[in-house]
Amino acid sequence: MPYLPDTMPAPQPSRDDAPFWSACNESRLLIRHCTECKRFSHPPMPSCPHCGSTRMDWKEVSGNGTVYTYTISHHPTHPALKGHGAYNVSVVLLDDAGDVRLVSNVVDVAPEDMKIGLPVTVYWDAVADGVQLPRFKKRVESNQNKGGE
Ligand SMILES: [Zn+2]
Repeated sequence: MPYLPDTMPAPQPSRDDAPFWSACNESRLLIRHCTECKRFSHPPMPSCPHCGSTRMDWKEVSGNGTVYTYTISHHPTHPALKGHGAYNVSVVLLDDAGDVRLVSNVVDVAPEDMKIGLPVTVYWDAVADGVQLPRFKKRVESNQNKGGE
């Protein structure tokens, strides 16, 4: 079941962010990357917000990050959320995309247990046929991941 009701509006991809959303539907997180200054940016735009270059490509990132900040919403901010109850809106700082932060939700943490700095990893939330949104879940560090790379 999606984190938020499936009656919430689906993304309406634009020319700039269509590759981002298509990759999401394939469970891949792509972030816009400038081939001139080598910095990442989000949301996707036709030119680099750092240096103005239009020489942009996409880099696939791990989906790991930490909660940079969050809020708990108790009020339905959209008619589809009426009666849904509290949910978090979280800003996730990605581990491997410079200072890029995604606005999303952490799906498996109760409102009272949310905290800044929580390690999270991307969770592909299927909200409609063939449509997945990048949401996040708590990241449990395993021994296999320690000290690698
Ligand atoms: Zn740039």
